Amino acid sequence: MPRRPARRDFLNGIAIGAGGILASGWLAPAAADAAADPPAAQDIPGYYPPDLTGMRGSHRGSYETAHAERDGAHPAAPRATGEAYDLIIVGAGIGGLAAAHFYRARQPAARILILDNHDDFGGHAKRNEFHVDGRMLLANGGTWAIESPFPYSPVAAGLLAELGIDPPRLEQRDHHAQYYGGLSRGVFFDRETFGVDRLVPGLPPTSADGRAAASPAKWETFLARTPLAAQARADILEIETGTRDYFPGLDSDAKKDKLSRMSYQDYLRNVVGAHPSVIPFYAARTYDLFAVGIDGVTALDCWGLGFAGFAGLRLTPGAYPRMGFTAMGAATPGQAPYTFHFPDGNATVARLLVRKLVPDSLAGTTVDDIVTAAADYPKLDADGAPVRIRLSSTVVAVEHAGPVETARAVEVRYVRGGSTYAVRAPRVVMASWNMMIPYIIPTLPAEQKDALHYGVKVPLVYTKVAIRNWRAFAQLGVSAIETPGMYHSSIELDEPIDIGTYRASRSPDEPVVLRLLRAPCKPGLSERDQHRVGRAELLATPFAVFETNIRDQLARVLGPAGFDPARDVAAITVNRWPHGYAYEYNPLWDPESFFAGGPTPNMLARKPFGRITIANSDAAAAAYTDQAIDQAYRAVDELPEN
Ligand SMILES: Cc1cc2nc3c(=O)[nH]c(=O)nc-3n(C[C@H](O)[C@H](O)[C@H](O)COP(=O)(O)OP(=O)(O)OC[C@H]3O[C@@H](n4cnc5c(N)ncnc54)[C@H](O)[C@@H]3O)c2cc1C
Repeated sequence: MPRRPARRDFLNGIAIGAGGILASGWLAPAAADAAADPPAAQDIPGYYPPDLTGMRGSHRGSYETAHAERDGAHPAAPRATGEAYDLIIVGAGIGGLAAAHFYRARQPAARILILDNHDDFGGHAKRNEFHVDGRMLLANGGTWAIESPFPYSPVAAGLLAELGIDPPRLEQRDHHAQYYGGLSRGVFFDRETFGVDRLVPGLPPTSADGRAAASPAKWETFLARTPLAAQARADILEIETGTRDYFPGLDSDAKKDKLSRMSYQDYLRNVVGAHPSVIPFYAARTYDLFAVGIDGVTALDCWGLGFAGFAGLRLTPGAYPRMGFTAMGAATPGQAPYTFHFPDGNATVARLLVRKLVPDSLAGTTVDDIVTAAADYPKLDADGAPVRIRLSSTVVAVEHAGPVETARAVEVRYVRGGSTYAVRAPRVVMASWNMMIPYIIPTLPAEQKDALHYGVKVPLVYTKVAIRNWRAFAQLGVSAIETPGMYHSSIELDEPIDIGTYRASRSPDEPVVLRLLRAPCKPGLSERDQHRVGRAELLATPFAVFETNIRDQLARVLGPAGFDPARDVAAITVNRWPHGYAYEYNPLWDPESFFAGGPTPNMLARKPFGRITIANSDAAAAAYTDQAIDQAYRAVDELPEN
């Protein structure tokens, strides 16, 4: 709960931005009320959410208020905090933090309040921190890498540069793939799906960017060790190494058009002619980027990602116009995609932004020293600070104080610790999630509300398991294992990054973090319905179920090499994201007009509404950090000056 507002805050706030509030009679009595509240958890020394394990991501306490608001159970009448700001930002993800940064670049003296419903800042870009046998191990709780299917815009690249992040330089300097030297990728064939439990290491890399066929010899060797039937092996060999043109007589654009209208699964089954038993081998390949299987992703996207089966089509590099936006990895030749990740993923981007906004909260000055620096959470919401980041605060209402056209202030109501508070500012950026905005701003035009509701955020789970050693991986000869039929569809050693004083695990005897992925998708439904059903499943699944599945899966896959979950697992963090990636339009189900130049729902959804503007990667319909930054910049640009 907020602390008693300092008198200094009160006077400054009124003077700077929100004239007229005192006169409204709304503030004084309620402020006295709020003053009696005990300190909020984040203000108590020792508060440190990155250390928490168990169920994280959308953790308990972060979503109940929003769901109640959605269901029409409005919270109690608000009490005023007595604070006033020049700008209130809803959402402390990279978008919200970047919006604060951009606004302060224009108005250095601005007073900004950032509210977020989670107990930590960063949005999807969260930090998982483990301490195992005296050693710090970091992992990404969500957003992993600075990478994009498109080059970063000058705005987004400029922000990275301002933060001291030079991805290609860091990648070259700090990524030490050699620590896992000699270990390959493997596939675990589970008995429920493939008839027998068997790990086969040495999965050959898929054909170079989907345009050249892979070496048959390597595939023959790999396939011979699998439990797959002869027909499935022959078909996979054809997919991976064949050079047939399945669309003879068509030019590259016509072929791409066809591929953009069918799923990769249908391409393999109906065009390549693969036996149905081949599908489970490939089904989960798209989970990481789309959180649906190959039934829900176009063949063109899969070609863009370098999947196999396209070598004979001789497609020209580059995006096809109808899917210029979604053909990931197939964008303009010559672009240099970024692929660097910090040990805690893009939580470092969020932490660098926080250090700029609230310098006292994180020690250091460089991109190297921030990696091991512990954030001082009680500093994030300090009385009198120009920027305050208030956690565990779910915004339930954002309304103009008067008619939209003439109002001078916007009232923001949020629930924290069971109490409702009200605070005002002359401008608000909603750097939150689109689907919730219609409930928060019920006065929005109906068609904008519909547009905000269109995208269905993508549910997925990034599980992190800290283990005491990775001897089993070394013995099996693998650093990453695809487990396409199991609860989590992959198990990987985190990629080794040394940066600043942080040292990655470099010997199998040292502890390391495993990355496991689960996509709760439901093949057979449209993509948006798969996400809806998957989200419901995630919200209904307790940590204990995850834990049982994780331990069982690790025992089955790694047990034959001596791994014992009871002895070797040090900690488990399930980063559950029922509302994960921003929804990206899917040519398999979304209207044709979306791919013919729009307009698309996100364009209408992000229109400014009086003194309120809308940021977040949902506003771009693209789940990437650069998009969140670009949308933040636009939303700040659209704010009223006075
Ligand atoms: C698991 C996962 C992995 C990802 N990996 C990558 C990656 O490797 N690279 C990449 O570029 N992108 C990745 N992304 C996409 C990522 O979403 C973006 O990169 C970016 O971090 C989004 O930032 P944002 O600020 O727009 O949204 P978010 O990070 O979602 O932040 C919005 C914040 O607003 C809060 N909020 C919502 N409603 C309210 C409310 N009513 N009151 C208060 N607060 C509210 C949310 O809880 C959230 O904390 C990943 C996403 C997920 C889920």
